[in-house]
Amino acid sequence: MRLVYKFGGTSMAGTERITHAAGLALAGAKTHELVVVVSAMDGVTEQLLDLAAAAGSGNRARVYSLLGTIRSGHEQAARGLGGEAPAKVEGLLAKLETLAGGILAVGELTDRLQDAVVAYGEKLSSVMMGVAMRCPALDGQEAGIVTTDHFGEADPLMELSTHNIAQNVVPLLGVGRPVVVAGFIAANQRGVVTTIGRGGSDYTATILGAAIKADEIHIWSDVDGLMTADPRVVPGAKLLERISFAEAVELGKFGAKSMHPRALEPAAVYGIPVRMRSTFKPENAGTLIDGAAAGVDGAGAGSGSGAVRAVPMLKNLAMITIGGAGMIGRPGTAAAVFDALALARVNVHMICQSVSEAGISVVVAQGQVGKARAALEQALLKHQGPAALADHAVKSVEVQEDLVVIAVVGAGMKGTPGVAAKAFTAMAEKAVNIIAIAQGSSELSIALAVRAEDAKLAVAAIHERFGLG
Ligand code: ADP
Ligand code: ASP
Ligand code: MG
Repeated sequence: MRLVYKFGGTSMAGTERITHAAGLALAGAKTHELVVVVSAMDGVTEQLLDLAAAAGSGNRARVYSLLGTIRSGHEQAARGLGGEAPAKVEGLLAKLETLAGGILAVGELTDRLQDAVVAYGEKLSSVMMGVAMRCPALDGQEAGIVTTDHFGEADPLMELSTHNIAQNVVPLLGVGRPVVVAGFIAANQRGVVTTIGRGGSDYTATILGAAIKADEIHIWSDVDGLMTADPRVVPGAKLLERISFAEAVELGKFGAKSMHPRALEPAAVYGIPVRMRSTFKPENAGTLIDGAAAGVDGAGAGSGSGAVRAVPMLKNLAMITIGGAGMIGRPGTAAAVFDALALARVNVHMICQSVSEAGISVVVAQGQVGKARAALEQALLKHQGPAALADHAVKSVEVQEDLVVIAVVGAGMKGTPGVAAKAFTAMAEKAVNIIAIAQGSSELSIALAVRAEDAKLAVAAIHERFGLG
């Protein structure tokens, strides 16, 4: 069989964890052709983002303090691994320091430079994993993953990438001959380093899986598998033993396991089963995600037999409400709103329109709210644009911060009445104020926006209401 294993940041956090992950991978490689995708060491992507920002704003003290932290963490891990690890890590750290120094000197950060900095997390971890496994280690570019130019959130060009991966990775593979590939990073068509969005290593794993025609993709992490809720939020959350791609994709979109929202797409398209497994309990089967409809025929044993399978939550969100009485019955307003957001590359997590209050609300990541607001104000409040808006249909663009979106997910919800009512009752009982509600037409999920301070209570209440614990 041909497999892809992916180890996340927690599995790369230090010599011991890297050695453990390498042991699991080498065991798999004894009987399978194996590509091993790794994330940056736990927390390093955050540190690199901070580093890039500090350099861009000319904060020399912060730049050198962050470089010191990043350096000591990697040096320590590399020393523990021994062999060529310290020298290889040293070489990469020196390049990172030069790059950060350059940005600091100019005092300006572009998206392209930010990606160049952030890429070092996975460059460093993949090199160390290669040493631990005594096998070749490629970064995303060397593996052949090609993306669009949208630095920070680049989209893979699948046809081209598949072609390259067949040339760069497949010939290296054989039973007993695994290959390590850095997750999250790739390059555009001109060879400039790009990243594919936070949590992107899972996505790298499925892109590679699709390209090498893997039989299965195993996502190893510090949890037992995909759970009915985030176990850090709901301690009583249960393992989902089996779940369909449609449900898992929906869970991913709403933040379950901080997966990249599109991480499961390539696997779903090519019908490659994905397993979520725990590095702490490698003997367990974890969660199987495949084409079978789970939850209705008992396939989802251990997760309750109802219409609802899980209650994921997306954090750090803000809602922008575009208001104005003149918007009622005026065609084109929604189009203008979404055009403006799309042009600014703002990802919309949830959309609501209220007829009586004459407004459209969109929920976006907290980090994108400034950009989103600016784009909307420019497009809608400057007396230009589509003729339909010229007479000031839109009066205001308002932002509400510190929100989360809690979703109720399950394929069995389709045609099951009362799911929404049950969720609302659970909220009412705990006196949680629901700020906005949305249901996709696929009827796979209902999403509720609530204040961040109510999040934990709200998830626990819904989880309990649907008997998932
Ligand atoms: P990795 O470093 O392996 O990529 P992540 O931190 O990205 O791991 O994701 C694992 C974490 O996701 C877990 O520690 C868990 O707290 C959290 N999580 C959130 N929702 C879920 C869920 N529905 N099932 C399992 N884990 C979840
Ligand atoms: N290191 C990247 C991140 O933190 C990618 C990943 O871990 O999947 O987002
Ligand atoms: Mg992750």
